[in-house]
Amino acid sequence: MSHLVADAAFTKLLPKIELHAHLTGSISVSTLHDIWQERKKKGDDLSLEDPVLALPPEKVYYNVFTSANFFPLFDGYIYELCSSIDAIRFATQQVLRDFEQDGVRYLELRTTPRENVTNPFSKEDYVSTILDCIREFGRERMSTYLILSIDRRNSVAQAMETVELAIKYKDRGVVGVDLCGNPTKGNVGIFRPVFEKAQSSGLKITLHFAEVPESSTTQELQTLLSYQPDRLGHVINVPDDIKEDIARRGIGLELCLSCNVHAKLTPGGFAGHHFGYWKDKGCPISLCTDDVGIFRSSVSNEYRLAAEHFNFDRGDLAV
Ligand SMILES: [Zn+2]
Repeated sequence: MSHLVADAAFTKLLPKIELHAHLTGSISVSTLHDIWQERKKKGDDLSLEDPVLALPPEKVYYNVFTSANFFPLFDGYIYELCSSIDAIRFATQQVLRDFEQDGVRYLELRTTPRENVTNPFSKEDYVSTILDCIREFGRERMSTYLILSIDRRNSVAQAMETVELAIKYKDRGVVGVDLCGNPTKGNVGIFRPVFEKAQSSGLKITLHFAEVPESSTTQELQTLLSYQPDRLGHVINVPDDIKEDIARRGIGLELCLSCNVHAKLTPGGFAGHHFGYWKDKGCPISLCTDDVGIFRSSVSNEYRLAAEHFNFDRGDLAV
């Protein structure tokens, strides 16, 4: 099988794992459009533009992606559109189906628990709804688990609430906690008791790490590594001594080619992506989409891109 080109048909058929996928960012534009249309039909007073018009690729790639205006897309537009339990349920079902159709066989979705006061649901309702969707979809179809995310802008009390929820729902499929959100915001140093609590309760820890220069000071990166993470996401702007530390510890890396290239988080296009650096450093690497709904690149396309730009053939990808 070696030396055969790993084309799109091959990478789609390959059984794959996805470890870094935000639920909200994984909702396709067509699913968002369905939710928008349904709400219009019901007569909801909806000031939001049709997602098909609001989220064209050229706007997403060239205008939306600076850290200053990337995050309002989630906090504002998509959260406002998916602001009922019914919409969250429908979106989750569609996201699971989309990953399954792309040939994903093991999925860890992540999401920041949120609540709504106007159309009332609690953070617990939100988490429980997603876990119901995962159970109903069937783990024999696709082995799916949930990671609860702490937003960098959270207070310690809010972050602790997320960990408490994660502990409460461990037996329904919550496997870990994440630190995410706008990398130019927040002080990650406040979360030590939160991650200690998560770890002592048997939850795994994954952290968004060195996404942009502002979140890549030696102090921040050393603080994050002191939380003993099991995995790190992105690892873009990492100084050499910290790279060596990560390699020595053999921490799992969630690398997102299309996200980093399209959001211009990494220079040099696909061929210059730091996947090239990490691929032979001994750390387990998982190719991930981050936000397939936004970047429009499926897991199988990420594998194809890795094959194309880093010279892997079918045999390399199938191991
Ligand atoms: Zn992410």
